[in-house]
Amino acid sequence: MQTEVLIIGSGVAGLMTALKAARFAEVTVLTKKEADNTSTAKAQGGIASVLDAADRFDFHIRDTLNAGDGLCHEDVVGTIIREGPGAIRELVDMGAHFTLAKNGDLDLGREGGHSHRRIVHSQDMTGREVQRVLLERVRASDKIRLLENHTALNLVTLGSAIGNLPENPSQDRCLGCYVHDVESGEIVPVLAGAVVISTGGAGKAYLYTSNPDVASGAGIAMAYRVGADIANMEFIQFHPTCLFHPSAKSFLISEAVRGEGAILRTLDGNAFMESYHPMKDLAPRDIVARAIDTELKKKGDDFVLLDITHKPAREIIDRFPNIYDQCLQYGFDMTKDPLPVVPAAHYLCGGVLTDLEGKTGIPGLYACGETACTGLHGANRLASNSLLESLVMAGRIAASLKKYLDSAVPPPLEAIPPWDPGDSVDSDENVVITHNWDEVRRTMWNYVGIVRSDRRLQRALDRILMLKKEVEEYYWDFKVTRELIELRNLVYVSLLIIRCAMTRKESRGLHYTLDYPGHDEKFRKDTVINRRMYIDKRGIENRE
Ligand SMILES: Cc1cc2nc3c(=O)[nH]c(=O)nc-3n(C[C@H](O)[C@H](O)[C@H](O)COP(=O)(O)OP(=O)(O)OC[C@H]3O[C@@H](n4cnc5c(N)ncnc54)[C@H](O)[C@@H]3O)c2cc1C
Repeated sequence: MQTEVLIIGSGVAGLMTALKAARFAEVTVLTKKEADNTSTAKAQGGIASVLDAADRFDFHIRDTLNAGDGLCHEDVVGTIIREGPGAIRELVDMGAHFTLAKNGDLDLGREGGHSHRRIVHSQDMTGREVQRVLLERVRASDKIRLLENHTALNLVTLGSAIGNLPENPSQDRCLGCYVHDVESGEIVPVLAGAVVISTGGAGKAYLYTSNPDVASGAGIAMAYRVGADIANMEFIQFHPTCLFHPSAKSFLISEAVRGEGAILRTLDGNAFMESYHPMKDLAPRDIVARAIDTELKKKGDDFVLLDITHKPAREIIDRFPNIYDQCLQYGFDMTKDPLPVVPAAHYLCGGVLTDLEGKTGIPGLYACGETACTGLHGANRLASNSLLESLVMAGRIAASLKKYLDSAVPPPLEAIPPWDPGDSVDSDENVVITHNWDEVRRTMWNYVGIVRSDRRLQRALDRILMLKKEVEEYYWDFKVTRELIELRNLVYVSLLIIRCAMTRKESRGLHYTLDYPGHDEKFRKDTVINRRMYIDKRGIENRE
């Protein structure tokens, strides 16, 4: 298969980039499952942008820098925020229906950390609307080929094709990707003029997550394997309240429920937030998540309770119709029953390091959306800044792609050889894959979660390195399946999170460690790692 631009992922980042690149190139979009199975489609709150007369770019910039706790790149913050209103207008022109105020202007909501009303939303289902409008456009374009149930397996670069990482990534070049066609089971080499990875976050590395199952950190793991720089993986945002139920794997109970008076309690009824913060249950997100984690570890319980039963039933149902209905489906009437909740991995601030054109250090390889680390979020993401980042960066990446394609000689057809399955056989031990997956997620949850320590991180590192060795063996011994690809990527991404967390010997933003509870100016910088740092002269990845 051959294409000018290969885009991996069909969330806001992938689809918007595809639409922009289709103005000058033939584009192929790959997606692991159905095209609307994305974090994008689950986004509730909205998109932050300066659209109100009383608001100013400077205010949004200041709020973003405050949240980022000293690590945001100010040039990136300024650029993305200033280009935000244009990106929103573009979405509206494409046909996105956002909630309007009585005067016909966009209704602007306000969220934690924002000093002004600036959240463009479509009721509490903004992501679904963004996904709908972009997907309709992509399906209607004759310049875009959308392939569902196609899982990217490995990127191919000049270096990786000869089994060697060049000393400097800028001497390398991205040529395309091996792709697993889930229906036929075949692995197809896709030759591309340029590749954009937009595979979203990595919530599935954790036992509890608000992310959909597709969020297994594929793009970050693939980029790491071909030598790209990866940054700030220690900054994982945990949402304090996800419903605890075996089949409600990723259902969020919005912060607005606490905003309306819900109280967090341990199973014996203690309203514990009183002893953690003067704002009690309305303390900032990371403080609430940390308090719940401490109570769970102290008591050995699986969940805490979110109790709004003291409010009139009618008021609760009118204010939270969607949450009320969903909880009823899982057997909880929130007007009568306190809801079992746990914190859940929600957003990854780090990722593949890019510049303001979305370029990684490897020519021809770009990253967009949650997979990328542009420098916008720093050590903590301001609510509703992520959809904004994808929308703005998509346009900037497309402009850069055009320049790149105009100047680069297209790679020759034989640049990617057919996939060599070697002696691999069908696995008769799928239980090993499920078991290892479970082990990764529990290890990450217990030792690399909301509260960390040197000892916990070392334990996690030892276990994940062992799992990595085992998974690499299956990978070569058994025929590739989507589950195996995902497990392999999760192991890599977990390793990256642990290594970044071990490097940062301070607490900042979303990274909190008992051993270094305060800021340390020495660490007021990005954590940047790459594969070159971990391979020895024989090309073997060592354990350090
Ligand atoms: C419950 C929830 C609520 C949120 N609310 C908000 C909000 O209100 N405002 C806000 O700004 N942000 C919000 N976020 C965050 C925001 O939704 C995401 O950061 C953003 O949508 C990510 O977009 P993306 O395009 O980078 O990735 P995604 O939308 O996750 O898309 C990733 C795509 O990559 C595909 N993929 C993954 N691996 C592979 C592979 N190996 N091969 C092929 N395809 C692959 C997936 O199938 C998917 O199509 C929320 C997130 C969640 C989970």
